[in-house]
Amino acid sequence: MAHSVTLIPGDGTGPEISEATVRVLEATGVEFDWDVREAGIDAAEKYGSVLPDDVLESIRRNKVAIKGPITTPRGGGFRSVNVALRKMLDLYACLRPAKYYPGVRSRYKDVDLVIVRENHEDTYAGVEFEKGDPAIRKISDLTEAAGMGPIREDAGLTLKIISEYGSERIVRFALDYARKFGRRKVTAVAKDNIMKFTDGLFFAVARRVAEEYPDIEYQEVLVDNMTMQLVQKPELYDVLVLPNLYGDILSDLCAGLVGGLGVAPGANLGDEIAVFEPVHGSAPKYTGMNKVNPMAMMFSGVMMLRHIGEEAAGDRLEAAMASIIAEGKDVTYDMKPRPDDPTAVGTSEVADAIIARLRA
Ligand code: NAD
Repeated sequence: MAHSVTLIPGDGTGPEISEATVRVLEATGVEFDWDVREAGIDAAEKYGSVLPDDVLESIRRNKVAIKGPITTPRGGGFRSVNVALRKMLDLYACLRPAKYYPGVRSRYKDVDLVIVRENHEDTYAGVEFEKGDPAIRKISDLTEAAGMGPIREDAGLTLKIISEYGSERIVRFALDYARKFGRRKVTAVAKDNIMKFTDGLFFAVARRVAEEYPDIEYQEVLVDNMTMQLVQKPELYDVLVLPNLYGDILSDLCAGLVGGLGVAPGANLGDEIAVFEPVHGSAPKYTGMNKVNPMAMMFSGVMMLRHIGEEAAGDRLEAAMASIIAEGKDVTYDMKPRPDDPTAVGTSEVADAIIARLRA
């Protein structure tokens, strides 16, 4: 039976990489019933909303979606479709694997990490006050009364919010993921020596939940130490679970360890719904040029195949992509030794080569 999946091509270079990804997914032999939905700038022009209701309805119905990147213009009150999707569908876990494939240009060879980032809380909860907002004066009165001193008159304020509920479900997610995919260790990362009541709470909850998983090794590392550890000996780590801001920063660091944005896949998951997408953005300056690397979205497709129970197809697609990467011939500019390498192929040709490999 065909799998019903919501497909959001996105904007900028999104439609090109989505087309390439759909072709390789279909070439695995798995059947899909694509429910194509528009979101982003183009949708705003046509339907008056960057995130029309039918997009959310489709994802809620199908429970699985794959999306290309969507541009968030700076300023002007334009809401990020990506953040809205995560909030409205309660996709509380952001999953970003960082795995080295031979042939990728990287300083490291022995990296196979998975970042599990909390998606809703922390300084991303959106509880912010602009400089001059009278609310800051009220909060300043409270901090002063509590002996913490006043907040300067010329300060802006963003609150860091970390709850037991949010921490527990992300840590549980990471431990369940480790169990399901045969991983041996989960490392919680925060900075409780400074933020005792937020990061301290995160660690305390993580420690308690980890006791329920005696088969998985559990460890805590301070985030500043972790950045150094990851550039020195990334092979020591396996699954990392982090509050939102540290997760955001370390997932880019980890993408850099294994060849950069062109090959970094991701997923945003809730208890029932999963949305797969590349880590990178819409790279608008390359729109319509058949230039950018479709592999990050294709690897997100590999994750999706495994999520929908098509493990064998996921393994085959991953192996076909790995062999194209190892060969280094039919790859885009970002995977060549020099970005102006004249032998670099385009987005669509990468898909052709992978499909030929799948059929070989
Ligand atoms: P970006 O990831 O789009 O591009 C940064 C640079 O990385 C590009 O100029 C290009 O050199 C390189 N790059 C990115 N993807 C590549 C690929 N597939 N192959 C080869 N090279 C690639 O980041 P940006 O310029 O900061 O963001 C552009 C827009 O995308 C912004 O509006 C941003 O808000 C949005 N964005 C969307 C998502 C999402 O939809 N999930 C994620 C991040 C950024």
